[in-house]
Amino acid sequence: MKHRARKRFGQNFLHDPVIVRRIIGAIDPKPGERLVEIGPGQGAITLPLLRACGTLHVIELDRDLVQPLADKARDIGQIVIHQQDALRFDFSGLGNQGGLRVVGNLPYNISTPLLFHLIDQSEYIQDMHFMLQKEVVDRLAAIPGGSDYGRLSVMIQYYCRVEPLFRVGPGAFRPAPKVESAFVRLIPHARPPVAATDIACLAMLVRQAFSQRRKTLRNSLKGLLTADEIAHTGTDPAARPETISLRQYVALADRLAANRQHAVEE
Ligand code: SAM
Repeated sequence: MKHRARKRFGQNFLHDPVIVRRIIGAIDPKPGERLVEIGPGQGAITLPLLRACGTLHVIELDRDLVQPLADKARDIGQIVIHQQDALRFDFSGLGNQGGLRVVGNLPYNISTPLLFHLIDQSEYIQDMHFMLQKEVVDRLAAIPGGSDYGRLSVMIQYYCRVEPLFRVGPGAFRPAPKVESAFVRLIPHARPPVAATDIACLAMLVRQAFSQRRKTLRNSLKGLLTADEIAHTGTDPAARPETISLRQYVALADRLAANRQHAVEE
């Protein structure tokens, strides 16, 4: 029976062979590598990946897609289908020695939480290649000073090098999405270029700063740091969150972590 694309699963299936070739070329899969695809759907990139690697793990939420995919893959290689929500998937189970290569034309409706879920497990991951809404790729790669720069930029860049690769128009998918797409490579840093003493403090501070991005840091960080404490880290308390670099956010988070440590010791 023909599968009807489900909006709630963010299903826009790739059908353009030129784009599929570009994707596979960018990933450059090799036999023996440990690849995991999120959202294989009807197999547009799954089957070429399987041809190149011989084995492949895939995570697909829509159970109606599982059997047709298993049938298509049978004669090509060994596929392991995890019929699960990628947002809850434990990557450590597949990559306890690291080195996982995670790929996917991601469901756009959950791409931001999925990216946060993945960076939480970045120690197991060698690299990631994703098709995303172009606007999300712009935010991932954004530098301080522009309107694209935000929580996603700071937190992803803390963990990964971001390499936007190419744009893809809506016509490459069925049904065509309403937005432009882009393909991006994310490479987790072996060691973060600037390491925070407490990641939870960094995550909380960045979240709070960008929750009110029109306010100055002095106001948006109220309750976490005073204006004097902000100034002591070398950042102007009158600056706005979108002008602050990753390095400055880490300095602010370290100050917050030190305050909390101090409070525990008293
Ligand atoms: N890879 C296929 C392609 O390129 O044609 C399908 C891409 S489609 C944009 C997204 C896929 O992710 C769909 O197959 C959808 O069912 C699946 N999906 C949606 N939400 C998911 C989730 N939470 N966990 C795993 N897969 C999910």
